[in-house]
Amino acid sequence: MTDLHRLSIREISEGLAAAKFSSRELTEHYLKRIAKIDPQVRSYVTVTNDVALAQADAADALRQAGQATALTGIPVAHKDIFCTQGIKTSAGSKMLDNFISPYDATVVAQGKNAGLVTLGKVNMDEFAMGSTSESSFYGATKNPWALDHVPGGSSGGSAAVVAADLAPFATGTDTGGSIRQPASFCGLTGLKPTYGRVSRYGIIAYASSLDQAGPMARSAEDCAYLMNVIASHDAKDSTSMDKAVEDYVANLNATTLKGLRIGIPKQYFNVAGLDAAVKARVEESLKKLEELGAVLVEIDLNMTESYVPTYYLIAPAEASSNLSRYDGVRYGYRAENPQDILDLYKRSRSEGFGAEVQRRILIGTYALSAGYYDAYYVKAQKVRRLIQQDFLKAFEQVDVIAAPTAPTTAYKIGASLDPVEMYLGDIYTIAVNLAGLPAISAPVGFDQDNLPVGLQLIGNYWSESQLLSVVHQYQQATDWHSKRAAIAEENA
Ligand code: GLN
Repeated sequence: MTDLHRLSIREISEGLAAAKFSSRELTEHYLKRIAKIDPQVRSYVTVTNDVALAQADAADALRQAGQATALTGIPVAHKDIFCTQGIKTSAGSKMLDNFISPYDATVVAQGKNAGLVTLGKVNMDEFAMGSTSESSFYGATKNPWALDHVPGGSSGGSAAVVAADLAPFATGTDTGGSIRQPASFCGLTGLKPTYGRVSRYGIIAYASSLDQAGPMARSAEDCAYLMNVIASHDAKDSTSMDKAVEDYVANLNATTLKGLRIGIPKQYFNVAGLDAAVKARVEESLKKLEELGAVLVEIDLNMTESYVPTYYLIAPAEASSNLSRYDGVRYGYRAENPQDILDLYKRSRSEGFGAEVQRRILIGTYALSAGYYDAYYVKAQKVRRLIQQDFLKAFEQVDVIAAPTAPTTAYKIGASLDPVEMYLGDIYTIAVNLAGLPAISAPVGFDQDNLPVGLQLIGNYWSESQLLSVVHQYQQATDWHSKRAAIAEENA
């Protein structure tokens, strides 16, 4: 079959079960596409050909033996922030360019247990800091919809591989929008679960109180399949929640749009810098949801102006602490011919980290320093709590909250936004992480340049099922999620 890459996860699962094709054929099909098309997209840092084929054969053998699960033999791409045993795990940094992980992240191990086949590791902003994937040591990944545009970030590689049909779905991580914003920029569906729903064990840490892993795929249904694999309680992650995991696939029709109260935050639609086409597409999608039975309720989120300053204190503060382990001694890059130990630390870190990472280390170290800790870090933590309370108050009135995922569509590669401009682009996503809430981005159309626009729906704690279900209902009635970029139509 030449069009295996066009199948949804459910269709792949059914095809494998009916022996229409084997995991080996499917995996070879994807590897062939990667070899042919990825040189244009530049989404993979590492393609694990041999591992993938061995896993595919093992999956086919399990199926023969009658021991296959719904996902046995389906290929996946992992963001290069998940530790993969025996495979380079770079986090997009020169610092870890030589790092072969000795163990698997829980998410990766769960994928293996379910029989998923690892196609490889995909590009990202260095240490997940950024919104374009351009800060990667490996260079920029291209947006499949327009190769001179960025795929978003930091999970830009995960978005690009799915949008170009170089993997049927992918894992990502989201500290301040890194699943949702690239999903939006590449016309995909991406879910950031409640903090504590998916294990952080083996994920290279950026900001530990904000980081959360989740699925990136074409549809809510495809995301639900991956959530069924990765959601868990994990004793190896002390912030993982001991709470029963739902069957996200079985629940796809559990929420009806009839009477669903969708909150529209006044403040969100008056943000300076909200692109007119983005606003129009989001409003059209809300109209559609209304037609399908939802009730739109205007709400207030009064803390909106505090999102960016609060996040850009807390995230760098935690990052500066997390990154202190890269000292040229224990992991990764080590400077040549150090004069003494201080010179070793200094040069390893100056040469191993890129500019954006160094900027965040400086901001974070400053905010945590003795003289400024109370004025900046403690203050930011207090505002963080107010932001959370603002959301909880809103959820007394509504079931979900709607917002654009990002104020714009994908930027041009090299647009060289100054850092503050780039940080302002995170306005709609970062508060969700500060509050620990789940949120989903789904495609709702295109701007005048045919670049995708995303709608974000934010839910109350542990409402992943509901969010997936709401988007699934919307996707049953619309077809934005099945549009494909021209490059995805190319055959290998
Ligand atoms: N763009 C945001 C940042 O740079 C979010 C990144 C993320 O979610 N990893 O911090």
